[in-house]
Amino acid sequence: MLKAVAVLAGTDVKGTIFFSQEGDGPTTVTGSISGLKPGLHGFHVHALGDTTNGCMSTGPHFNPAGKEHGAPEDENRHAGDLGNVTVGEDGVANVDIADCQIPLTGPHSIIGRAVVVHADPDDLGKGGHELSKSTGNAGGRVACGIGCHTLNHPVAVITGGTSGIGRATAAEFVRNGARVIIADVQDDLGRAVAAELGPDAACYTRCDVSDEAQVAAAVDHAVAGHGRLDVIFNNAGIGGDMTPAPLASLDLGDFDRVMAVNARAAVAGVKHAARVMVPRRGGSIICTASTAAVVGNVATTAYGVSKAAVVGPRARRGGGAGALPGGGGGGA
Ligand SMILES: [Zn+2]
Repeated sequence: MLKAVAVLAGTDVKGTIFFSQEGDGPTTVTGSISGLKPGLHGFHVHALGDTTNGCMSTGPHFNPAGKEHGAPEDENRHAGDLGNVTVGEDGVANVDIADCQIPLTGPHSIIGRAVVVHADPDDLGKGGHELSKSTGNAGGRVACGIGCHTLNHPVAVITGGTSGIGRATAAEFVRNGARVIIADVQDDLGRAVAAELGPDAACYTRCDVSDEAQVAAAVDHAVAGHGRLDVIFNNAGIGGDMTPAPLASLDLGDFDRVMAVNARAAVAGVKHAARVMVPRRGGSIICTASTAAVVGNVATTAYGVSKAAVVGPRARRGGGAGALPGGGGGGA
């Protein structure tokens, strides 16, 4: 369940509007607005979350599909057209709307956009006024506020989260109230693990960590779906070819594959977590290392070298906000 809130503020008009959305279902809009004159008042999501010049800088009605202004039930409507709120004699409007065109996640999310209540009724595109097809001729913008996710839950991305240490960590994070994105290449298992952890608490996204773009996408998934990333656990790893072989016949193709998943991918995870964490000045980055990084003859050469590479960046500690943080964590 995604939740958001917009606190509306105007000269005399105030309100708090709550949004919630379960999966791909309709978004429920509830709350109340006070200080309006009795009757109908246009109520819309506008395109921009910019209130530098008050409600005037919030742009036009949110309209990603390029349609005309209309009623909420019309096919031809702006996504942001929520119709009217009804204000009683006490000057209060109680809002209770369900709408399918105002998701709280994805490219057409209304998060970060403005909710605006108007001075006059919205004619729903049918008033015959020159503004009917653009604004519903709803008059001035008397109060507005920006939709923000309401989350007290930390959000974590765990690569290799479908089994072993990753899966156990995901379960522990969820037990402690976090939202977890399990990023792995085992689709069926990933979906099953996410379902087991609870659809509100965990979701699965396919992520081959040897492909930087997929690591970036997993991070973006956290930010788009939850508004933030608090933890990335770079945990995905492979053992490579376990067949004992003398060093003189080391398979460098296998070595490259192990390095790509165990070492390069961890760096990609650090890089893309930093991209979203540094601006927020917060977050935790954890990487699974191994005793094989420091003790000989416990794993293959490729595995030992790859895990030594994960431990290595600790030496960069202290280099400032953009530097690689310390590798850490246990692991086998
Ligand atoms: Zn409109």
